[in-house]
Amino acid sequence: MNKEEKAEFKIKLLKTIETTQQQIDQLVEDTKPIAPENSLGRITRMDAINNKSVAEATLRTTRRKMDKLQNALKKIDEKDFGKCIKCKGPIPIQRLMYMPESNNCVRCASRY
Ligand SMILES: [Zn+2]
Repeated sequence: MNKEEKAEFKIKLLKTIETTQQQIDQLVEDTKPIAPENSLGRITRMDAINNKSVAEATLRTTRRKMDKLQNALKKIDEKDFGKCIKCKGPIPIQRLMYMPESNNCVRCASRY
């Protein structure tokens, strides 16, 4: 990864962190406890419970993604940055731009 690519990637990374944070805030909102007695009908309440469990699962995944993004940001200036954590090979810049949270190459990622 050259200097320009790194600069470009850093912008992408910061943007992704920002949108991911917004997603997390929204999901936290969506996973708030549902009041047992409310004006919602029974079906609506069941829907709300369903939506809540979907939101909880998404929140977990999104938080994991955020951890990886923060990690990438911490390591961006290290000389090993952009290398696969498994095989130590370089991660193609296209992959990083598409998924800034990736810390392994396509080959290693598809193996797990
Ligand atoms: Zn690899």
